[in-house]
Amino acid sequence: MNKRAAVIGAGIIGATCAYELKKHAYDVVVIDPEHHESAPSKYNAGGLGYAEVLPIASGSILRKVPKWLIDPVGPLSIKPGYLPKAMPWFVRFVLASKQIVFRESVRALARLNLLSRELCQPLYEAAGISSAIRPVGALHLYETEQEFRRALPGWKLRADNGIKFRHIGQGELLAMEPGLAPVFTGATLLEDWHLVSDPEAVLSGITQLGQKRGVDFIHDSVVGIQSRSGKLQVLLEYSDNIQVDQVVLAAGAWSGPLAKTLGDRIPLEAERGYNTTIPNNSVSINRELIFGEHGFVATQLDCGLRIGGGAEFAGLNEPPNYARASAMLEKARRFLPRLRADGGTEWMGCRPAIPDSRPVIGRATRQRQVLYAFGHGHLGLTQAPATAHLIAQLALEQQPSIDVKPYSPERFA
Ligand SMILES: Cc1cc2nc3c(=O)[nH]c(=O)nc-3n(C[C@H](O)[C@H](O)[C@H](O)COP(=O)(O)OP(=O)(O)OC[C@H]3O[C@@H](n4cnc5c(N)ncnc54)[C@H](O)[C@@H]3O)c2cc1C
Repeated sequence: MNKRAAVIGAGIIGATCAYELKKHAYDVVVIDPEHHESAPSKYNAGGLGYAEVLPIASGSILRKVPKWLIDPVGPLSIKPGYLPKAMPWFVRFVLASKQIVFRESVRALARLNLLSRELCQPLYEAAGISSAIRPVGALHLYETEQEFRRALPGWKLRADNGIKFRHIGQGELLAMEPGLAPVFTGATLLEDWHLVSDPEAVLSGITQLGQKRGVDFIHDSVVGIQSRSGKLQVLLEYSDNIQVDQVVLAAGAWSGPLAKTLGDRIPLEAERGYNTTIPNNSVSINRELIFGEHGFVATQLDCGLRIGGGAEFAGLNEPPNYARASAMLEKARRFLPRLRADGGTEWMGCRPAIPDSRPVIGRATRQRQVLYAFGHGHLGLTQAPATAHLIAQLALEQQPSIDVKPYSPERFA
């Protein structure tokens, strides 16, 4: 008889894990209430950012924090009343910026992204969505020579970890992206960076792939996980509890309380980001444009031009402050003069953020039949294929394709 697995969460991580487990002869049920509008898998920027291997916690980001915090609608904000609750997370964030941890995180992200890079195409082909991948590349933009110089150590570290890139001057940049205002002194071109046509279509394709293979779905919230005579009981809010051999916790930014009931205090915060999607825009861009100093990106998707980013710490339940999305759009209009800002749809999403930017992939420390697959921060779409592959290997007790220690929940003990 097949073993039975429950996957908690039907975002891009849960959907991909469910398919991988099903492929390896598990009977799989995915559980999700589907009422979290701010779950980011459907409406993120759509970047397959394999080259993005620098963790957020770094000396260069810490130096920008005071400037960013002064601006009420700037790239970073912390709701004042929320600071005491988030303080332990921020302490860990500062510790994660120490060179030794930072460099370990770079290596861990590079290995995970590379594995995803290998697995993405076959996964999307199986789902019939390989045409969703657009190998367009990305450009990190610089407004001044000093900004470029400040970025150089980061590029050296990326090069040391196998990332290929090329610095270009203003002339070449404007030839590549004629829609940009001539305010950038240059850019760094990352060819190995793909975009998807629409993250919602990717999620739907992978979900349907699982369903075609027999993955079941329960429309409900998980409220607890208990162990009883070698089996796991998954407690649901409205439906009858279910009994399984294996649980995968993939509830994104909502995973923390469930991990806590299992005895693991994982530093997980909702890092809220905003975007505006404008259909039928008169400006066209050819690659992902990264406005690093301003903390936002622009991507052209099938549903429109999406301008978004930012990091707001206010918890999971605070209503969105769309002034942030408007501020980013206003800045983007300075850089893309033909951008029409009307008729856009605004959205806020909760990134599952871990202080060292490494996702949590591994066994719960006290309940070995529970596997964690959450905390992918800015890169969940990018890292889903590798995460699901590793989760299936762990469930089957196979040797993982890469060392999973850097992602282990035990690093927080
Ligand atoms: C503005 C923005 C732009 C981004 N751009 C990119 C990008 O370009 N590239 C990239 O790789 N990543 C990007 N990301 C990050 C990426 O979207 C996330 O890392 C990824 O979507 C996380 O996926 P997930 O499946 O872990 O979580 P989610 O998408 O949050 O899914 C979690 C699911 O768990 C469910 N759930 C919650 N609680 C329970 C419960 N108790 N029981 C059952 N189910 C539950 C929720 O309903 C939800 O469906 C971006 C994020 C944001 C906010």
